[in-house]
Amino acid sequence: MPIATVSPSTNEILKTFQPLNAQQIADKLQLAADTFRSYRYTSFEERQRMMLRSAEILESEKQAFGRLMTTEMGKPINAAVQEAEKCAWVCRYYADKAREHLADQVFATNATQSYVRFQPLGPILAVMPWNFPFWQVFRFAAPALMAGNVGLLKHASNVPQCALMIEEIFARAGFPAGAFQTLLIGSAAVPRVLEDPRVAAVTLTGSEPAGRSVASIAGKQIKKTVLELGGSDPFIVMPTADLDSAVTTAIKARTINNGQSCIAAKRFIVAAEIYQDFEDRFVKQMEALKVGDPFEESTDIGPLATPQILADVNQQVERSVALGARVLTGGKRVNRPGNFYEPTALTDIPQDAPAYNEEVFGPVASLFSVNSIDEAIRLANSTSFGLGAAAWTNDLKEQKLFIDELEAGCVFLNGMVASDPRLPFGGVKHSGYGRELGEFGIREFVNIKTVWIK
Ligand code: NAP
Repeated sequence: MPIATVSPSTNEILKTFQPLNAQQIADKLQLAADTFRSYRYTSFEERQRMMLRSAEILESEKQAFGRLMTTEMGKPINAAVQEAEKCAWVCRYYADKAREHLADQVFATNATQSYVRFQPLGPILAVMPWNFPFWQVFRFAAPALMAGNVGLLKHASNVPQCALMIEEIFARAGFPAGAFQTLLIGSAAVPRVLEDPRVAAVTLTGSEPAGRSVASIAGKQIKKTVLELGGSDPFIVMPTADLDSAVTTAIKARTINNGQSCIAAKRFIVAAEIYQDFEDRFVKQMEALKVGDPFEESTDIGPLATPQILADVNQQVERSVALGARVLTGGKRVNRPGNFYEPTALTDIPQDAPAYNEEVFGPVASLFSVNSIDEAIRLANSTSFGLGAAAWTNDLKEQKLFIDELEAGCVFLNGMVASDPRLPFGGVKHSGYGRELGEFGIREFVNIKTVWIK
């Protein structure tokens, strides 16, 4: 994929970039390694000052950063501005909490003293996706830099200006030049970077194939990995749920970010007693959404990020329908230039259909009716993914069952799955491993060093 900014609304090429050559990559890796040698000894206070400055820049220029995100990947402008605000939040969170999360931890043993000290690992490679082009990067970078690591960003090829802007934000905040660098490279150049001995570890947020490839290379090199991969989150609604609130949240949970979120609710599993009511209201609200120019504040759904994603979503829906799924609303691309797809709801979906067992990365909801909570849980768990899960019920016994039985990295009851700097985030099964955010997140890329003194 060429490294370029291409408008998702028109497919016009707005700016192209030359990928780094081998020497330029080597220079940046050397700068990262050299910087780490001194940066690791900076104090928490010094790092905190720079991280808080990053937060201030993000907040004061959120409109400009929002416009950049919308230009490159098409998310509605309000959401893009909110994304910049959320990045400021994660910077502040780790600026305040890193010292506490990484304080020595004492354990009583037969030694005079025994404790754990958390030390940085070195340059960490971050391979990141375009869908939350700022947030995905900041949720890696804030804890990594606060822990004393340095970052190397290989961002998705369609958001190069966001990638360069993030590098600039950290530089303006006072971080040394090698503390956070953007590598403008295609995915084919990732193996060489990852194999380089100067790179200590890698985190990848993206698709399953990318995760497999990066993890297998890292495995050969015995390098630590964190993988945040795809999801096909269930959203279960039981008879005791507040249906008004469940439906409104369901629409938001499916269509957020133009339907391109790993933790978007993708499969709606509804108790048979209330299924028809849910379906009627859901379809009505999907039809009321405004699809259009992502720069207009009233737009609910903008274009998908690339023509390839549009083609994939279109094909997944067509194949599902050919196998027997029924279209309740939508079901095709919007007849206008750019990558627009109609808000879509499908039902009667057979088990072998893509809408049943694949991740659909667009505004397409799969609706299922179930006769019992056991059937709901079985259906929810019947994919290879396990990122998030939402369940709506006011019955305490049902709540306990969902918490215990849903195979996912998180379970949200009577709410929508969302990331929060204070809480760990990550998946199980093919959604990946390791955690970002919270105390667990900052401890992924550190040496958990045991100290024992007689
Ligand atoms: P993608 O194709 O896997 O791309 C993600 C990143 O990986 C990009 O920087 C891409 O570079 C790079 N990449 C792709 N193939 C690679 C390979 N073989 N080796 C090394 N790097 C490679 O994913 P996407 O389609 O852009 O993003 C959507 C996916 O990300 C969805 O599955 C979504 O669920 C997942 N996601 C997960 C989370 C989470 O937290 N779990 C969050 C957001 C998104 P190029 O752009 O140069 O190809």
